Amino acid sequence: MSLAEMDRRIRKAEKDAGREQGSTCLLAISKLQPVGRIRAVLGSGHTQFGENRVQEAASKWPELMDSHPGVSLHLVGPLQSNKVRQAMKLFRCIHSLDRPKLARRIADVAQEIGQCPDLFIQVNTGEEAQKSGVIPDDLDRLVSTTRQLELPVVGLMCIPPVGEEAALHFGLLANLAERNGLNKLSMGMSGDFETAIALGATHVRIGTAVFGERPQSLAGNRG
Ligand SMILES: *Cc1c(COP(=O)(O)O)cnc(C)c1O
Repeated sequence: MSLAEMDRRIRKAEKDAGREQGSTCLLAISKLQPVGRIRAVLGSGHTQFGENRVQEAASKWPELMDSHPGVSLHLVGPLQSNKVRQAMKLFRCIHSLDRPKLARRIADVAQEIGQCPDLFIQVNTGEEAQKSGVIPDDLDRLVSTTRQLELPVVGLMCIPPVGEEAALHFGLLANLAERNGLNKLSMGMSGDFETAIALGATHVRIGTAVFGERPQSLAGNRG
């Protein structure tokens, strides 16, 4: 699907939900995509991109951002404490804050470097053992920790369990956000972004529907 077609579908979903036109940000998730495809999307003027690995992003984006000033990069995958400094310099926004220790580490580095990306707290709405994210019962406590640390938390993020009704998870995330006075929601991917927009998504994370199917690994896709 072309980017223009995606934009059209997003605007339609906003309209159907009675939402303001342009209130949803499309994050083009470029993980594992060949650089040629990323350049094509950059060339169309798109400025908001997401990656799920710090290392992969660090290997390809500094050069792309040099040639396209004004591009913002979002981290949508898990963040390890030992990559925090690198991530905070590279990303405009981090969508995967999910534990107090990580919050404290981010606050320490923010002090040191004098800047901090916007932050989303990732919630494991399906309480899946293998998935990152704070479980709903522990969210309020994590939010108050981030407030004590004066971190710029702007909203919540979730990845619904495969095979479950995504709408239930999006609705839960919206409720949790409202209860905590947070107004941004990072939810919805290629297969369910229209549902997410109907339930209040402000950031949809779209990979394959923008770039096409992902290669399985980075090997041999540098073209
Ligand atoms: C890969 C990824 C996406 C995009 O997935 P698509 O199904 O390709 O749209 C969105 N969010 C996260 C966290 C991802 O890792």
